[in-house]
Amino acid sequence: MTSTDTSGALVRAEIDVAALRANAAALAERLAPARLKCVVKANAYGHGIDIVAPALFAAGWRDFCVATVSEALHLRELLGDDVAITAWLYGPTTDLDAAVTAGIELGVSTVDSLDRLRDAARRTNSTARLHLKVDTGLGRNGLAPADWKRALDKLRGLDAGPESDEADASAVAPDLEIVGIMSHYAVADEPERVETAQQTHVFDSAYRELTAVLDETQGRLGESGGLEVHIANSPAALTLSPLPGTSARVGLSLYGLSPLDDQNSQDLGLVPVMRLVSQVVNLKDVPSGHGASYGFTFTAAADTRFALVPGGYGDGLARSASNRAEVSIRGTRYPVIGRIAMDQMIVEVGAGEVSIGDEVVIFGPDGPSAAEWGTWADTINYEIVTRISERVDRVEVEPHPVDGGGLR
Ligand SMILES: *Cc1c(COP(=O)(O)O)cnc(C)c1O
Repeated sequence: MTSTDTSGALVRAEIDVAALRANAAALAERLAPARLKCVVKANAYGHGIDIVAPALFAAGWRDFCVATVSEALHLRELLGDDVAITAWLYGPTTDLDAAVTAGIELGVSTVDSLDRLRDAARRTNSTARLHLKVDTGLGRNGLAPADWKRALDKLRGLDAGPESDEADASAVAPDLEIVGIMSHYAVADEPERVETAQQTHVFDSAYRELTAVLDETQGRLGESGGLEVHIANSPAALTLSPLPGTSARVGLSLYGLSPLDDQNSQDLGLVPVMRLVSQVVNLKDVPSGHGASYGFTFTAAADTRFALVPGGYGDGLARSASNRAEVSIRGTRYPVIGRIAMDQMIVEVGAGEVSIGDEVVIFGPDGPSAAEWGTWADTINYEIVTRISERVDRVEVEPHPVDGGGLR
C-alpha cells in the first residue's frame, strides 16, 4: 500500500469490463436467434453507465434499454446515433419532444400517450418510434386489455385521417411508427409457475391483433413482418425454451448475477462484473464485553480484535445486514458486527492475519456474493448492486484473477 490514493474515495466498485463482455456474448449465444437488448437502467444496475455502456458499445452491442427518458437522452449523448435505445417509463408531464427527436424508441402504456407522441412527432417534424406495451398480467405498466383495444382502434383511426389518400400517405414520413410490441413477466424466476405460459399466451394474441392492424393499414404505421417482439427479462432468458420473441431485454445477468434462487453466477456461466472493495483503516484489541457500534447490538464474547472498514449505508450498503453480513480479507471471511453506520462498519477479525491497509472484499467474485448480501439484508442481488451510491468510485479494471470464465 505504498501508492497514494488521490480520489479520496475509500470504497471502490471495480468494474470488470472483460467479464461484462463475456456475459453479453454468453447470453447472446443462449438467446439466439433472438437478439440481446442490453438493459442499462439505474446507472447500469449501479455499475456505472459511463463505464458499462461504452464497453458494451466497443464490444459491438447496439441495442440498449433504459427505464426513463432522461436515462435515454444521457445514453444517446454517450453512445451517439448508431444505437437503438428503448425507454418505457414516463409520465403525463414528461417532455417527449426531446426523446422523439433523439430517436429514442418509447414504450406505450397508455392510450393518451399515443396522442402525446403523435403531437410530439408533428411538433418536431420527426417520426415517433414506438413499442406498444401490453400488460399481460403483471399489473404494472402496459396497456390492460380494454386499453389495448382502444389503442388498436386509435391506430386504425390515425391511419383513416382525411389525408389517407394512398399515394400521399405513403410518400410522407408517418408521425408514428410501430416498431415493436413488448410485455414483462412477473414470475419467470420461478420456472414451475404456470403464470408465465399464461402471460406468453396473452402476449401472442396481442401480437396477432397488432399485426392484423398493421396489415390493415398497409404498413403505413409499420411493417408487421419487421415488428420487434420482446417479453423476456433475465430469468425468462435463462429458463424458457424456446424463448418467446425476437429479442430479450436482459439486465441483471449481463452484470454476471443470477436471478434464480437455485443457481448462482457460476452455475449459469456468468462472471460477476462488480467487485466492491474497501480497506482496513484501523485495528484495535478489545476486551471481552466490549460493545460495537451504535446501540451496542453486539458485545464481544471474549477478548478479540476489531477492524474498522469504511463502507456504510451512505455508500449504499444495507443497514439491515448489520450483525449478519460477512466480508473477505486476504481470502478469509469475517463477520460484520454491530450496526452498519452511514460511513463505516466494524469487522471482528479476532486472531486473523489482518493489517491496516489490507483490502476488504465486501462482495465480488473472490468474496461474498451480491446474492449473499441480498439474503443478509432481506432483499435481492438486484437491489444490492443498484443501491451502491454515488460516493463509491467506479473504476474499470482488468479481469480479477479468479476463475474468469470464458473471456474473449
Ligand atoms: C428492468 C427491466 C428488465 C430487465 O430485467 P432483468 O431481470 O434485470 O433482466 C426488462 N424489462 C423491463 C420492463 C424492466 O423494467
